[in-house]
Amino acid sequence: MDELTLLTVNFIVAFIVLVTMAGLYQTSKADHCLIHWSLAGLGFLVNSAIGLIYAPLGLPYFLGPPLGNSALIASYLLLLSGVASYLAKPVSWRLLGVLLASIYLLSLSSFAQADVIHRFLLSYPILIAANLYTIWLLVSSRQAGLRASSIVLLGILCFNALQLSLRLITFLLDQMQLTAFSINWLLHTIGTLAVMLFMLLSMVGCVLLWARKKELALRQLAETDALTGWLNRQSMAEKMQAELHLCQRQRLPFSLLTFDIDHFKQINDKHGHSIGDTVLQDIAWLGKTILRDYDLLFRTGGEEFVACLPGVTPDQASAIARRFKNAVAKHHFNNSSTLKVTISQGIAGTANAYSNPETIASLQQQADHALYQAKQQGRDQVRLFAATCS
Ligand code: GH3
Ligand code: MG
Ligand code: MG
Repeated sequence: MDELTLLTVNFIVAFIVLVTMAGLYQTSKADHCLIHWSLAGLGFLVNSAIGLIYAPLGLPYFLGPPLGNSALIASYLLLLSGVASYLAKPVSWRLLGVLLASIYLLSLSSFAQADVIHRFLLSYPILIAANLYTIWLLVSSRQAGLRASSIVLLGILCFNALQLSLRLITFLLDQMQLTAFSINWLLHTIGTLAVMLFMLLSMVGCVLLWARKKELALRQLAETDALTGWLNRQSMAEKMQAELHLCQRQRLPFSLLTFDIDHFKQINDKHGHSIGDTVLQDIAWLGKTILRDYDLLFRTGGEEFVACLPGVTPDQASAIARRFKNAVAKHHFNNSSTLKVTISQGIAGTANAYSNPETIASLQQQADHALYQAKQQGRDQVRLFAATCS
């Protein structure tokens, strides 16, 4: 392909990147990473436009290579800042602006003006560093469920950092040999093709990352009870089974704590449905403060809840339940000392999930039975399933 065709194709690809990212941003304005990635597309577009028009229009130097280089570096930095924003890391627009202004001014220096290779020597280390930092951000991210979807972006970033490094080393070590092989061909063909590949695949990689995060957010929304923030029944059996399996493998204890607000219908009838909702929220909040971060907490019905306690023996679960009962007794619901709320709790579990294998279904039945007994025996109390092995 001749140079003009390559530059035209690059311009079209940059335009596609810009339109795709800006279009996604229009549909999902809360995702700030899409602003960064749209601007990265704009940077690519400016870079390829300058490549196309600089020589034919005979533009002055300051509107040519310095602007084109700065636009390309801006794209790499915006790809990086987009990934940082995606991973909820802080991004400084001011630092970005200062960096780009410095790069533009550096490109105006007589060293940069003297030779295209000099300009590459100035810009390549920044491009490589931006790529490597983006890779590091993605690899060191602990966000669950994002690993597989970052493979395309990681792949193209690694490839690009490698090809830029190889070219930088070649420039540094073998300038003479490059001159002999015609610098123009090498720079404008391989370089332009690499930019095109980078634009396309980094866009695909970013879109995959964004789509995965959206999917995870939707899934979380579908599994979460809007009123209390606890999980709903949707994937309760599956999640609890996974925890039980883990405890069985590691020979750990496992307990289920189920509870139900006493005479909740009367609370609704006496104080109104919205106060009832506040009571539900307060109870869920109190439960969360007493239980651990990694306990799975479910709202299974109107005023019925289940907490799955991996690594906790039934006796320990009883102690937790008593603490919960006391916290509910002390709490001022609706900021009033007249609104009294109590809960009944049922517990079932095993002190060693490996030697006393149980199924989630049977443990749930046992915990429900214990809760039923707590209700029968006067409410506001904790009952451990009679045959529970502690
Ligand atoms: P018990 O002590 O036997 O558990 O009696 P209870 O009144 O708590 O139980 P019952 O099952 O008779 O009533 C539950 C009430 O919970 C009835 C229903 O209107 C109310 N409820 C269910 N979901 C919600 C909700 O989301 N918000 C509010 N405010 N009330 C709800
Ligand atoms: Mg109730
Ligand atoms: Mg109930």
